[in-house]
Amino acid sequence: MASRLHGLGTTIFAEMSALATRTGAVNLGQGFPDTDGPAPMLDAAAEAVRAGGYNQYPPGPGIAPLRTAIADHQRRFYGLEYDPDQEVLVTTGATEAIAATVLALVEPGDEVIALEPYYDSYAAVIAMAGGVRVPVTLTAPEFRLDLAALRAAVTPRTKLLLINSPHNPTGAVLNRDELAGIAALAQERDLLVVTDEVYEHMTYDGVPHLPLATFPGMRERTVTISSAGKTFAVTGWKIGWVCATPELVTAVRTAKQYLTYVSGGPLQPAVAAALALDDTYYHQLRADLQAKRDLLCEGLAGLGLTVAVPAGTYFVTTDVRPLGYDDGVEFCRMLPERCGVVAIPHEVFYDRKEAGRPLVRWAFCKRDEVLAEALTRLRAGL
Ligand code: PMP
Ligand code: GLN
Repeated sequence: MASRLHGLGTTIFAEMSALATRTGAVNLGQGFPDTDGPAPMLDAAAEAVRAGGYNQYPPGPGIAPLRTAIADHQRRFYGLEYDPDQEVLVTTGATEAIAATVLALVEPGDEVIALEPYYDSYAAVIAMAGGVRVPVTLTAPEFRLDLAALRAAVTPRTKLLLINSPHNPTGAVLNRDELAGIAALAQERDLLVVTDEVYEHMTYDGVPHLPLATFPGMRERTVTISSAGKTFAVTGWKIGWVCATPELVTAVRTAKQYLTYVSGGPLQPAVAAALALDDTYYHQLRADLQAKRDLLCEGLAGLGLTVAVPAGTYFVTTDVRPLGYDDGVEFCRMLPERCGVVAIPHEVFYDRKEAGRPLVRWAFCKRDEVLAEALTRLRAGL
């Protein structure tokens, strides 16, 4: 194996989902819903497969109706204007969007600042691009961004800020002041910003999702990434997208061409239909997930865990120390056998391991009865 892959191993998500399958545990580890997305979207995909016309290579940038639907979505929710022909690119999930963007923009030795704990693919693609990862830690229990620490992390080698809001795994949602601070720093130091907004429709208690590209001066230096996997509960479809200036999109498309060339033909018209669903869909998604969040958070708090109630995503973070554990990895290894439940240790998302050591992430994008069963098992076993 090439040295750039050293230390990457198997993703924690694959490892923990395999453990759940092997032990018959309730899987609150890997973030995927256990019901599929909206019926009109599923029907549109089935129809596209059967009717034909979408089963051969689609256009490299994505089919025009999907690029238009993505641009319409950015205008409808955020007032952002993107030209579907030049400023939108369809990718194989947000994962490919992140990989193609980093490969397109980072030179060997360039520094990429990422918010820690960071989604694991960030570390892997920065390494594959020969870049250097520079973490800025969001500190428990609030997981707010320390703008002074962010500023101090910038050096003459900094190329990109890679941010993520709503943030996996903490559930934190960057607020207006934090985003304005990022925007000011990016402009002052002439940095590009990649913003992973895959949980954009999952914020709670009226907390808004504010896309970084809406901040003055930022549209020109921001690559915005999202995905149908989260918003439409089809994580297996792997249809994502990038919105940015023509120059940035051209760079990302150049990398994408040689990673996957094109992305899932018949799924593209279906995602276009889903993006155009009326507000009821988006409101219901948020309301359903907020209720699930409350169910799981209350249950976990009742067990004695310290719970950081998330303002966004479908993950909740707990501190396991009140239960007498100081190591989340150890806790998550014990959990399937002792309780029949799987969760994810935060530590794998950190360079500064000690900051994540006592933290554990639980996914609540599951049917209520599955969440209730997990809590019953935890109450019996812990
Ligand atoms: N970014 C974040 C923060 C995520 O949690 C995920 C989850 N899968 C992804 C990117 C990848 O999205 P996709 O499945 O569309 O590749
Ligand atoms: N994004 C999901 C999570 O954070 C799963 C991603 C994956 O399996 N790579 O759990």
